[in-house]
Amino acid sequence: MPNSFADFNFNKQILSAVHDAGYTLPTPVQQKAIPLIMNGQDILGIAQTGTGKTAAYILPILMKLKYAQGNDVRGLIIAPTRELAIQIHENAKQYAHYTDLRIEVIYGGIGPKRQIEAIIKGIDILIATPGRLMDLYLEGYVVTKKIQILVLDEADKMMDMGFMPQINKVLEIIPKKRQNMLFSATMSERIEKLAENFLLWPTKVEVSPQATPADTVSQALYLLPNFKTKINLLRHFVENDAEVLKLIVFCRSRSNAENVYKFLLRRFNDKHVKVLHANKGQNTRINSINAFKNDEVRILVATDVAARGIDVSQVSHVINFDVPIIYEDYVHRIGRTGRALNTGKAITFCNPAENYFIHKIEKLIKQTIPVLPIPKTVFIEETPYEEKQTINREIDNQKKKDNPDFKGAFHEKKLSNKKSDVKKNNKPKAFSGKGKTVGNFKKNAKKY
Ligand code: AMP
Repeated sequence: MPNSFADFNFNKQILSAVHDAGYTLPTPVQQKAIPLIMNGQDILGIAQTGTGKTAAYILPILMKLKYAQGNDVRGLIIAPTRELAIQIHENAKQYAHYTDLRIEVIYGGIGPKRQIEAIIKGIDILIATPGRLMDLYLEGYVVTKKIQILVLDEADKMMDMGFMPQINKVLEIIPKKRQNMLFSATMSERIEKLAENFLLWPTKVEVSPQATPADTVSQALYLLPNFKTKINLLRHFVENDAEVLKLIVFCRSRSNAENVYKFLLRRFNDKHVKVLHANKGQNTRINSINAFKNDEVRILVATDVAARGIDVSQVSHVINFDVPIIYEDYVHRIGRTGRALNTGKAITFCNPAENYFIHKIEKLIKQTIPVLPIPKTVFIEETPYEEKQTINREIDNQKKKDNPDFKGAFHEKKLSNKKSDVKKNNKPKAFSGKGKTVGNFKKNAKKY
């Protein structure tokens, strides 16, 4: 297996760009995939972001297309989100620095004018999200007849987001004779099916077993009774842990992200922290990512959809403020840290209702996440009545889901829901009935 970039028969332009990027050794996915792609084979790549998969397919594409030619796109890369598309575009431009290849990106959420102008000038490689690609194809701006290479990146996410109809349409409009690559973070039956339809005699390249977090990430779990205690522990890490140099805080809903962001803003200011979620305008999102990437701020608060695929190197810590309910997102989230050859820490905050998801995640990753004690300096708050009710209701629902005969302790209790009963029951241990409601937690919790 090749263990240096020089072994790939790349030309000088590409080797110089790889050198400028600071890469000394190819990563495992690059070692395996590059020779196959150079050889013209179809590839099914099972690799998470953070493994170097983008370079694994872009570098051989640059080598194959070599120099600018004609007006029409020859290499098409489809990605599920704008953020990932932008990311791939940035990488591709960096790797193509010493070539004259014209590389553009198109995505929705902003006007198409600039994108159309760029395409009209002539392009070699196009990176696109499915919706915008179809729009500009139907309007006649994207001409597909010269496409020789097609990449579907994060195909699993593409399916989750309901893009399959668009992808199938794309497959109908591009030449049959082409090289295909399909990348997915996880292997599943539906990916296998897609691979069957889309790839011709593919070679499977798998760099880590299904949904396994990278070895370079150390994981920890904190069991916390409520939202406010989560905030206190977050504050502990942000203020007292000198190792937390660059941090992404993941929340499962926009409103939770907004609440956590507001809390951090009160303690610091927007020189230290930015937020990234789907409610923000596209430019705000790009500005937030760039500010974080360029080390202008050290904390980024994000939701899963907004953060998917973002490549920010040297994130020292990922904090899962909420446990993700889509289990695979756990792997994606913690893949933000420990990228390529760096190491990182992934810390998960878990309330009693979220424990259910932790068990599922542990099953998926085939690892137990070590539980750590709450640091002594972190104040453990009492759980407000409403939050306690919400947590209990969720636990009941989980039990019912697993066992349809389960009657639901919570609802039985609710029948005798005199205030005095509830208070008596609330006093002890993890759930505690008193204390102020934090923000609009109840409202947020409903969205779980
Ligand atoms: P990706 O999996 O494509 O999102 O890449 C993750 C990160 O690894 C990016 O920051 C790349 O710049 C970086 N990277 C890619 N290939 C290498 C390599 N051979 N050596 C070091 N870093 C790399």
